[in-house]
Amino acid sequence: MLIYGTEIRERLKAGITEQARTWNMSMAIIQVGANEASRLYVRSIQRFGADVGITVKLLQFPAETGEAQLVEVIQQLNRDNELTGIMLQTPLPAGLNYGRLVNTIAWQKDVEGIHNYNLGRLLSREEGVKPSTPKAVISILKGHGVDIDGQTVTIVGRSIVVGSSLAVMMTRENATVRLCHTHTRDLAEETRTADILVVAVGKPNLITPDMVKADGVIIDVGINFDEQGRVIGDVSDEAKAKARLASAVPGGVGALTVAELFDNLCILRRQNSGI
Ligand code: NAP
Repeated sequence: MLIYGTEIRERLKAGITEQARTWNMSMAIIQVGANEASRLYVRSIQRFGADVGITVKLLQFPAETGEAQLVEVIQQLNRDNELTGIMLQTPLPAGLNYGRLVNTIAWQKDVEGIHNYNLGRLLSREEGVKPSTPKAVISILKGHGVDIDGQTVTIVGRSIVVGSSLAVMMTRENATVRLCHTHTRDLAEETRTADILVVAVGKPNLITPDMVKADGVIIDVGINFDEQGRVIGDVSDEAKAKARLASAVPGGVGALTVAELFDNLCILRRQNSGI
């Protein structure tokens, strides 16, 4: 059965709207250069912000902007007491050091939860902001009554923002975690024996029916475009048909990620005012 993130998103949205009525919150997005996927993501953040009553400021810079100028912009935003959160859109044009720029954002304003300090807090199991896509994966599972405790979870893809952070979060949920990547020797063996399979790679139909457990749970994080320009995930429809529950693309994890980003903004607001 296909599962969706839309209902959970509406619940989260209602909670965020409520909090936005009580506290002033705002977010700045820094976008350097032009990228279609990034433009779509920014637009969905702006729409969500408008719906919940939170100001989203978009700061756009040409692709040839120098790193020193961006550092200065981020430092100014760090000093702006009216601003709750800052995010840096990816991909960045070649030549810009993403790690340096992200870690220039004050950790107290790191709405994506990817500043080294916040990643350290995640690892040491402290409360705080966490990357929004892994949060969305956990939310969609819990929202559909999937028990994570004690389950064997295979994650394909080890990026910091998705796979690696999710591995830490799943471990905290008491799952037994296997994290796969391009050096995994027998990917099918790792995926086929998973109670919960999460795929975050960016390759359409990477996961085929022979690679999944019958009656397992599949979370498809991948966002790809087919020849007709339609959004598709990393897991084939036939593989999803074998599962007890499989997340839809679009409308699954993607529907929840922006809501989790705004949930992070509320966490920053509370954290920074000691509420
Ligand atoms: P990424 O940084 O490119 O990482 C891709 C990961 O996949 C890498 O760890 C890579 O392994 C691994 N990989 C590539 N080919 C593989 C293969 N054949 N077998 C096993 N592992 C393989 O991508 P990302 O930012 O994590 O994003 C992954 C996907 O999720 C993309 O489609 C992206 O659009 C989507 N996404 C969706 C959301 C959402 O809200 N739904 C949010 C973020 C991202 P190595 O490390 O060995 O190279």
